[in-house]
Amino acid sequence: MKSRKLLICNAKIFLKDKIMHGNVIVENGKIKEIVSQLNNLENHYKEDIVYDMKGRYLLPGFVDIHCHGGNNSSFMDCEESDFENILSYYLKHGTTTIFPTTLSSDDQQLILFLDTYENYIKKNSYYKKMMGGCHLEGPYLSIEKAGAQLQSKCKEVDFSFAVDVINKYLCIKRWTIAPEMDIKYKLSTLLRERKIVVSAGHTKVLYEEMQEAFKNGYTHMTHLYSGMNSMIYVDSFRKAGAVEAALLDPDITVELIADGIHLPYPLIEIVYKIKGPDKIAIITDGMRGTGTKGQKSVLGNRKTGIKVIIKKGVAMLEDYSSLAGSITPLNKMFLGLVNNTSIPIIDIVKMCSYSPACIMGIQNTVGLIQPDYIANFIDMDNNWNVINVIYNGMIV
Ligand SMILES: [Zn+2]
Repeated sequence: MKSRKLLICNAKIFLKDKIMHGNVIVENGKIKEIVSQLNNLENHYKEDIVYDMKGRYLLPGFVDIHCHGGNNSSFMDCEESDFENILSYYLKHGTTTIFPTTLSSDDQQLILFLDTYENYIKKNSYYKKMMGGCHLEGPYLSIEKAGAQLQSKCKEVDFSFAVDVINKYLCIKRWTIAPEMDIKYKLSTLLRERKIVVSAGHTKVLYEEMQEAFKNGYTHMTHLYSGMNSMIYVDSFRKAGAVEAALLDPDITVELIADGIHLPYPLIEIVYKIKGPDKIAIITDGMRGTGTKGQKSVLGNRKTGIKVIIKKGVAMLEDYSSLAGSITPLNKMFLGLVNNTSIPIIDIVKMCSYSPACIMGIQNTVGLIQPDYIANFIDMDNNWNVINVIYNGMIV
């Protein structure tokens, strides 16, 4: 069979550290070559697809390492049709790699989610290559810092259950845990051995305890600032929190819900100035309400999840006591960062693609426009609107 080729020509290409005017040759779903001059290549490609960018921007597809749902579905619905519904929505908005993320639930439902994931990737589905692996958010989280997670499901680490689960489900690539629920760091130590990213979140620890956790396998912070302490007052004395510990440790990576609501833009700029683009992933933490018009939604499973309201561009608990996830896809977060911060575009691109890929250890296959990488791209106009998405070398 003749190999399928795609020639993307006349593009402003976002390479790792610069923008280059040129052309990208794609073969069998992978980037074969990047050339500045066509030299009659388009004639050679006559029988294949020639995609003329007309001078627009070509970005690497976005990598979202923390997403619960969208398009009126949640990954916790544990149905393959809901998985497809979510993936199809985000793909159209430029996300070509996604890490489906759970919420605190009982063990039975967590198993159902993992079974659904593994069954789905065994099938020959168009969307399955989008899925980079699972991110378990909970249930080993602080009840006081549960935010919109079901408090009744948050608990101390159940080590034997956790061992069973990571032995059986190789799709688990990251686990968000509150360090104080991980007695003697037994779980984080094991996860590190298995090369599963250990992420701290929904935690009430302060600076020193967070530093201790970093020594014991925690390398990443789940939605920095949300569900954790930054500086707090204890008996009129200021205490540094988990946020400050993460900001000051150069090895720790963080992720930011960059919708301008969970985190105001000045805070995003402060984190950027301290950590730099290589240590930051922009995430959606997107929930079911993303891409829907209703004012009511459910966080988590359709039947057993928490009722939330959608107001002012975000999901909130009905009593307004906590934000409950974003409804902003990455392309809109990207635009918000361009319009509301002074962060250079090249770094915004990096924080939406390469840096999250590095955090999850998949930086050799996705996140860059470079030969041998999977041909995932976003075609954006001069106002940073998504014109088209190319996924595995195919125009979506
Ligand atoms: Zn989340």
